[in-house]
Amino acid sequence: MKKLLLALLICNPLLLLAQRTILHCGKLIDVTKGQVLNEYSIIVEGNRITDIQAGYAKASGADKVIDLKNKTVMPGLIDCHVHLEHETSPTRYQEPFTFNPADYAFQSVVFAERTLRAGFTTVRDLGGTGVNISLRNAINKRLIKGPRIFTAGKTIATTGGHADPTNGFRDDLMGDPGPAAGVANGPDECRKAVRQRYKEGSDVIKITASGGVLSVAKSGENPQFTEEEIKAIVETAHDYGYKVAAHCHGAEAMKRAVRAGVNSIEHGTFMDEEVMQLMKEHGTYFVPTITAGKSVADSAKKPGYYPPLVTPKALAIGPKIQATFAKAYKAGVKIAFGTDAGVYAHGKNWMEFIYMTEAGMPPMEAIQSATLSAADLIGIYDKTGSIEKGKWADIIAVDGDPIKDIQVMGRVTFVMKDGVVYVD
Ligand SMILES: [Zn+2]
Repeated sequence: MKKLLLALLICNPLLLLAQRTILHCGKLIDVTKGQVLNEYSIIVEGNRITDIQAGYAKASGADKVIDLKNKTVMPGLIDCHVHLEHETSPTRYQEPFTFNPADYAFQSVVFAERTLRAGFTTVRDLGGTGVNISLRNAINKRLIKGPRIFTAGKTIATTGGHADPTNGFRDDLMGDPGPAAGVANGPDECRKAVRQRYKEGSDVIKITASGGVLSVAKSGENPQFTEEEIKAIVETAHDYGYKVAAHCHGAEAMKRAVRAGVNSIEHGTFMDEEVMQLMKEHGTYFVPTITAGKSVADSAKKPGYYPPLVTPKALAIGPKIQATFAKAYKAGVKIAFGTDAGVYAHGKNWMEFIYMTEAGMPPMEAIQSATLSAADLIGIYDKTGSIEKGKWADIIAVDGDPIKDIQVMGRVTFVMKDGVVYVD
């Protein structure tokens, strides 16, 4: 037996180095059961969780112990709607004219690290210039610190639509952007726009199915794709294994998007009973982004913060999202956590927990929406979203008990992503 062990070690010297990290957790949130467990240990090897044990497991040999006995431990959080390339500021509208891709890249490094340090180990980046694809790659190579990113690359809009990148420009700068730039009209161009995102290396497809608040355009809610166009996008996206996220404020746009088979409705401000019913029938997720709504309404009160076309939309639409969330939650629509970070300051993503619980969702369910449900929406439920054997070692801890006081979600004092400790 000894000889066999020796032979194994000679063949595979890595066995000698196999080091376990043992996390002693005073409180552990089991999101699958919806329970808080007392005095548990999580065993991590490499980038995986290999065991969960009752009590404080004893260390042996090269084991490393992390003491989280005074903390509440939970799965790494997931934000299904962020924009890591940029952040709100009164000069944001000048950036398309003054920024090079490197300017977006450097600032996105800062925003990504801030997001990770806030406890968000995974995010969906729902649209930027395409720098977000390189950002994802640099994080995966561990060149820089940030959350695991599933990115849409560029958003797909129609001409003049919410994510048309030359909206609001003067005539000679406006041009006529096409599918490569994320602007598509008619089913054929819609299919081409999806295929272009595939070519660029996106992970998910994002469309702007209705008008939006921050684009320099009159309506924040008009439908901007035909149902036929959205169907073409969804069908093509499915060919490539993509899910589709649809930005929508107006009810008509939501009905078209849900019937066409999108996987999530983002914002959902003017969601009516019929939309909620349709979403339940189709299993469509709602990603509320209440934080963004409140933040744009606040910024709009500062004179000159937004262009004149944007201010009234921000004031009218922003404050409504929380009440919509309350109705959708009561109606039983599936909810996945998402905040639209970038529209407000990165790293404050946890504010969404406050707003969700204020609107009637119990703290445990709010945490489940940012773990189990968010992982389900992204399609990584078997890899993260709960602390279970075999899943990625994405683990965070907060000071205090969020089930009793949701404010403690803003006090993240331990972050492990993929088995690597970033905050301790
Ligand atoms: Zn957004």
